[in-house]
Amino acid sequence: MLTGPLTRFDPLRLASQATELSGELDTTRMPRLADVLAAPATARWTLRAGRDEAKRLVLHGEVAARVSAICQRCMEPVELPLQSDIMLAVVSDDEGASRLPASLDPVFMDENGEIDLAILLEDELLLAMPAVPMHENVADCGERASKMSTGALEEFDIAERENPFAVLKKLKQDKPD
Ligand SMILES: [Zn+2]
Repeated sequence: MLTGPLTRFDPLRLASQATELSGELDTTRMPRLADVLAAPATARWTLRAGRDEAKRLVLHGEVAARVSAICQRCMEPVELPLQSDIMLAVVSDDEGASRLPASLDPVFMDENGEIDLAILLEDELLLAMPAVPMHENVADCGERASKMSTGALEEFDIAERENPFAVLKKLKQDKPD
């Protein structure tokens, strides 16, 4: 039915159809996200449109992608599963956006009443990206980390000790099976 990946859609029409859209979109269509990735990836997404209790046109859905970024500890690629639940209110201008409750983020329709899917998915995935991508465990860091000076490694150990979650993770990890 569609030739090539869907990139724009009419949210009003989607709401009237009461169906779910779904598809895949390559991160090569998302330049801001592609900038922070080590390699291209494919995002899978679903979207439904409807009206909320205040009769606002809203989009719900999900986007997920398994991406590869550069670990900021060892500078080797690290695989990151990104996932975001989409819950957005469709608006046509800043005024519409300013009327939304704080719990609802806006998504903007263009002058043709359409939404750019690539921008929507890119925004969601960028929000799901960790601010500092890193291997979850120091032990998973690539071989370049082992070539770092002892001093630098000690610094990372101190940073880990100060993070209670990292300590918990380490305890779990050290526990024999
Ligand atoms: Zn690493």
